[in-house]
Parts: sequence; C-alpha cells; structure tokens
Amino acid sequence: MAVKRLQNYINGEWVDSTTDEFVEIINPARGELLCECPMSTRAELDSAIQAAQEAYPDWRNTPPVARARYLHRLIELLEDNFNELSVVQTTEHGKTIDESRGETRRGIEMVEVASGIPTTMQGFNLEDIAHGIDEYAIYQPLGVFSCIAPFNFPFMVPLWFLPFAIACGNTFVVKPSPRTPMSQSKLFEMLDDVGLPPGVVNMVNGGAEVADGCMEHPDMKGVTFVGSTPVARHIYKKCGETGKRVIAQAGAKNFIVIMPDAEIDKAMVSLISSFFGNAGQRCLSGANLLVVGDDKTYRNVVDKFVEAAAAIRVGDGLDESVQMGPIQNIASKQRIVGMIEKGLEEGAKLTLDGRNLNLVGDLPEDCFLNPSVFEDVTLDMSLAREEIFGPVASVLRAGDLDEAIDMIHTVPFGNSSAIFTNNGKWARQFQHDVIAGNVGINVGIVAPMSFFPFGGMKDSFFGILHGQGRDVVRFFTESKIVITRWF
Ligand code: NAD
Repeated sequence: MAVKRLQNYINGEWVDSTTDEFVEIINPARGELLCECPMSTRAELDSAIQAAQEAYPDWRNTPPVARARYLHRLIELLEDNFNELSVVQTTEHGKTIDESRGETRRGIEMVEVASGIPTTMQGFNLEDIAHGIDEYAIYQPLGVFSCIAPFNFPFMVPLWFLPFAIACGNTFVVKPSPRTPMSQSKLFEMLDDVGLPPGVVNMVNGGAEVADGCMEHPDMKGVTFVGSTPVARHIYKKCGETGKRVIAQAGAKNFIVIMPDAEIDKAMVSLISSFFGNAGQRCLSGANLLVVGDDKTYRNVVDKFVEAAAAIRVGDGLDESVQMGPIQNIASKQRIVGMIEKGLEEGAKLTLDGRNLNLVGDLPEDCFLNPSVFEDVTLDMSLAREEIFGPVASVLRAGDLDEAIDMIHTVPFGNSSAIFTNNGKWARQFQHDVIAGNVGINVGIVAPMSFFPFGGMKDSFFGILHGQGRDVVRFFTESKIVITRWF
C-alpha cells in the first residue's frame, strides 16, 4: 500500500511538495510507519511567504473584532475534534493520551486568549500633553511572521504564536518539526475549514533549509523559534544579521529543590509527573532533584521518589492505563542511553536503571526506556549540567537554601526552577533570587497559562519579548505615536 505523504498548505490550498526528500514518520510505541514528511524546498517556502505577503494588506484592514471571529470558529472546530487531535499527538510523539489531551487543551486556550485581541491590542493616550495637543500610541501589525517548531509539543507550540499573530493582523507561515509533523497537518485542516482568506496562514514542512529561508527572506518580518539551545543561538544570530524580530525559546536543565520541611508525600505526584511526564521530553521537566537536609531527610525523599518512579506503567500511550510512553525516536533513545553510560563513567550511582525494560503489553522495545534515577550526582558531571531530554533524574544534595541556589546558578540554563517547602521565607528568598524564567513554589511543572508570557533566562531564551500573553501581542505589533493639534 502506498504510504501517505503529507502536503504543504500554501495560499489556502493543499499542495504536494516538489521535493524528492522525505522523512518517515514512525509511531514510536508500535514501530509502524505512519506517513512521510516532505523536506520542502526553498522555492516552496518562498511561494508561501509570497502568498502571506499578498494576503497581508486586506487582512491588516480587516477589523480586529472580525479577525477574532475566525478564531471563535477555530475554537469550535478544535473542540469538535478534541479527541482526534489528541490521538494524533500520541501516535506520532508517543506521549500518553492524557498528556495529549492536556496539550490539546493548552493549545485551545491560546486561541481563546488570542481572540481577545480587540482588547489586548489597544493602545493608550493622553489628552492635553500641551495646551490643545493630544498624544496617543497605536499598535499596528507588521506583515509576515513564522514559527519554527520543536518535536515535543507538536500541536501546541505553534499555537503559542499563530493565533496571536493573525489576530494582530499579521500573516503566518508554520514550519512544523519534521519528526512530528502530523499534528500541524491536522490543525491546518481545521484552519482550512475556518475559511480564512487565502495566504493568511500557511504551512511548509521541512528542516533547516526551510528554517533558514524564513530568516533570510526579505518579506519575513519576524521569526519565532522553540527548540534546542544550539539551534536557538543560530536562529538568534541569523535574525540579528538579517534584521528580523525574534523570539527563540531554548533548552533547559530544571532544578527542583526539596527543603527539609517539604510535604514529600503530597509533593510526590507532582514530582513524578515533572521528571517523567512526557518521558522527560519537556522543556519544563524536572531534571535535577536537589535535596536539602540531613541524611535521614535525604533517604526519606529519595527512597519514596525511586519507589514511585519504579512503579510508573510504561507502554503505548494510547492505553489509558499507561503513565509514560516511549521516547519519540530511536536516535533520541540512543542519545539518552549514552548519557546514562556517561553518568556511570563519571561516577554517579544508578539507583534505578531504566534500561531494564518493564513494559505494559507486547511492544517493540526500540524506543522505550523506563525511568532512571541517579544518586551521588555532582555539579561537574554531565548528568547535572547537560539537557538529557529523557526520563532520567539526577539527585544532588545541598546543605542549605543558599547553597542550593548557588548550585542552580552554576548550570547554564534558566528555564524553570521549583522549591517544595512550607516555609514562606524560604519560598520568598527562592522566588526573589533564583535565575529562572518560571518559578514554582510547591508546583513541579511551572507551565505559564496562555494569558501569561512564557520564556526562560540564560541559555534557555534568546530575545526580549516572550511567547504567549501580553508579550507576544507586543512582539507581533509595532507601536506608533501620534501627536495631534487642531487649529
Ligand atoms: P531542535 O532544535 O532540534 O529543532 C527545533 C526546530 O529547529 C525544528 O523545526 C528543526 O527542524 C529546526 N532545526 C533543526 N536544526 C536546525 C538548523 N541547524 N537550522 C535551522 N533550523 C533547524 O529541537 P527539538 O529536538 O525538536 O526540540 C527539543 C528541544 O526544544 C529541547 O532542547 C527542549 O528543551 C526545547 N524546547 C524548549 C521549549 C521552551 O519553551 N524553552 C519548549 C519546548 C521545547
């Protein structure tokens, strides 16, 4: 049987790519070939940008309240297709169906918030800045924007940007991850049904060639990127050279600090979900568990954590009883196994070895790992410093909170940090001092809602304005000052 090939969506039409290079998309839980993703050419990207550029003047002149009505219709379609959208995410990525439902919900919330654009895009004014003279600031769209997306939230991440961009009156091109492109194809089926004018939204499948094209094309006004730190650096540098606005959200190595007074039994569900949810393939995943306290406190925390991690049911995410799905592809699994081996070479103690598979059901083992927990991890080890992006927890120790915060600051990332404590003073000190874009207090996954901005610090973010919320409305608009006097 012929394998389905994904298409691009350009100028309101589904079109076959002209490329002869395709990537196989494989269900990581079952090993089955799902479809092929085209690695589109620069010419195909150029035609999408041209369509977006041509659609821009009329779209910009469509009143914001009318633009928002398209988003209301999109919300209805997303709700109607909620289950199907979630199943696609699990099938191509591997995450559990419950995690996919969470992703779908979060994606819809972006559209809901973006549909408030008649309010959120408003400027401000002051009468009588001098006698008989008024001044006001208006926010205007800029033109064509793009999103270069990662594999790990294949449905949601482009929705951090697309609905806000078009609500502001811009037009848009999405380049999905070539590892998990199906969720965006599904989303674009719904965008097609919404009946937006042709060219307002476009999707071009592909890899670095298409991404670089977004940054080099003279009609592209700005680029949004979510992915690993080395690629984020490349994007940020290149957008500087070509004079584009840029948001580049990057990699992570998140600490979770457990203070001696933490309510560890109540915290455990949140901790386990943070470290092993999405098989650790989240930029907000816990990675380093930093325990403060004496030997007794330490043993109590770590024993409970290891016991809970070992009990996680690993298997096909479509099985409702499964709590952790596979790694998204074989190469990633091999990379994670390599990190485990390096951790052993560096002298850490592997208390729970997730390479010993224990799966729910009869499944090919290619992409699976069970949770791993390392103890005796020190800050000089790669386990503590490098992003693993898999179900591997490193446990470290600190004498007090000051030391814990100092330890966090030696690691180059700053996406999120959390503390578990009942002590308000410690919590406040942590919130005040820690260098991280998202801070959790007795919260393990610090995921900002759609109406708050989302960005990291240090090597986890490059740019100024963040995705989501007020920041992204500002990113997708330019302010213009008008001063008026009437004779
Ligand atoms: P990745 O950097 O490999 O790829 C991201 C995107 O960049 C893809 O669309 C890919 O095709 C493109 N790309 C890859 N190499 C490129 C190159 N040389 N030039 C131009 N474009 C290129 O990231 P990934 O593996 O898909 O995603 C996982 C990473 O994303 C992790 O590091 C994770 O922490 C990070 N992430 C960050 C956030 C955040 O908000 N900070 C959110 C989700 C994921």
